[in-house]
Amino acid sequence: MVKYVAEPFKIKMVEPLKMTTREYREEKLKAANYNVFGLDSDDVYIDLLTDSGTGAMSDTQWAGIMTGDESYAGARSYRRLLKAAQDIFNYKYAQPVHQGRAAEQVLLPCLLKKGQKCISNMHFDTTRGHVGLIGARAVDIVVPEAKDTQTYMPFKGNMDVPRLEAYINEVGAENVGLIIMTITNNSAGGQPVSMANMKATKAVADKYGITMIIDAARYAENAYFIKQREEGYADVEIIDIVREMFSYADAFTMSAKKDAIVNMGGLIGIKDSEELYTKVKGWTIPYEGFVTYGGLAGRDLEALAIGLYEGLDKDYLRYRIGQVEYLGGRLMEEGIAFQYPVGGHAVFLDAKALLPHIPYNEFPGQALACELYLEAGIRSCDIGSYLLDLDPETGEQLQSEMEFTRLAIPRRVYTQAHFDVVVEALINIKKRAHEITGYKILWQPPVLRHFTAKLEPIKK
Ligand SMILES: *Cc1c(COP(=O)(O)O)cnc(C)c1O
Repeated sequence: MVKYVAEPFKIKMVEPLKMTTREYREEKLKAANYNVFGLDSDDVYIDLLTDSGTGAMSDTQWAGIMTGDESYAGARSYRRLLKAAQDIFNYKYAQPVHQGRAAEQVLLPCLLKKGQKCISNMHFDTTRGHVGLIGARAVDIVVPEAKDTQTYMPFKGNMDVPRLEAYINEVGAENVGLIIMTITNNSAGGQPVSMANMKATKAVADKYGITMIIDAARYAENAYFIKQREEGYADVEIIDIVREMFSYADAFTMSAKKDAIVNMGGLIGIKDSEELYTKVKGWTIPYEGFVTYGGLAGRDLEALAIGLYEGLDKDYLRYRIGQVEYLGGRLMEEGIAFQYPVGGHAVFLDAKALLPHIPYNEFPGQALACELYLEAGIRSCDIGSYLLDLDPETGEQLQSEMEFTRLAIPRRVYTQAHFDVVVEALINIKKRAHEITGYKILWQPPVLRHFTAKLEPIKK
């Protein structure tokens, strides 16, 4: 029997949840056109749609909200945030912004030119979007193990370094503007990147004179995995692992809505280039606001400065990753397939394995997401063929390699009993899996359809 790592905190403020019936949820899901993004959050019991900005702040962070300095220029909270960022990452410069994509909007055009390639272990969607807006091309060079969902490997998020070097030689180093290391590798399911891999990737970047940055949303979870899994790091403090990781880059972008446990916020870090920092400040002002607040309120800067440290606490990380591993471990005991090993922030259910009778163009990942809501009020989302838009040339439905339903885990929000509800719901769904039907799309926008498309269950 898998063990749950008990919470390293107690609860002093609660947010009541509405308990609903299956009939009620049937009505609400129908009204939402069978699209979970259309549901009111009040009608959701356990919300596993995303781990972004959904974490619970600590009493210390809430105290920071009260002491935040709301001065337009030179705020104390800004200086506190800079000090925290300089200490944790060992970088000379930091610039707050309102979220991760804002960091990308400000920093990427300073480093990347039209027509160049941008190479990553895997670009996150918004990063890919910003690379595209510049007129550059995003290229993913992840290790092949990332696609193997059943074999244990410690660092499935790694860059494929030999392939990276071969690609640079093929296109010419002068045509590669930037290398981005995403930690943890979100698009590969929150799989970590090893220290050895970061070091080797930076060595290649240096050899060819290419700038390397980190997409640092889950910097703390990645450090924890290195401590657990990489030889020589078991006794190294998390903060020292973080400092070493960031030594293998020139700058970073960060969505602070993940490991820094704030509801809104982002950060840019620059190791030592004053020239780059000057450019970043120059773009921050028109896009985000004056440099000492960067699109955030003083109280947000304060909560972020505190959250950057709280995310590094090893007891918190043991509980945090332990929670995701508990959910994965319970599902394994029940014979419910998921991407293995679990990543840092989510469990990806293998909807194709659970609903083998639903073909890709009837969206098994989406069918499972709908069923989880109907069964127990759990909100998840499809990461499969439904997420893919139509082929822009042929208008045909594209087929995803995997049909996942993602259960993303908010930080410090749900308890063991909530996860047991999720497991129980999946056991019940598995028993009547053959009765579950696929979905057809009645209406869809031309891009990013999954947010707003209207669907209907296929009648059998
Ligand atoms: C969430 C995320 C982003 C974008 O950040 P936002 O705060 O949502 O704008 C970029 N990269 C990664 C890896 C992320 O997880």
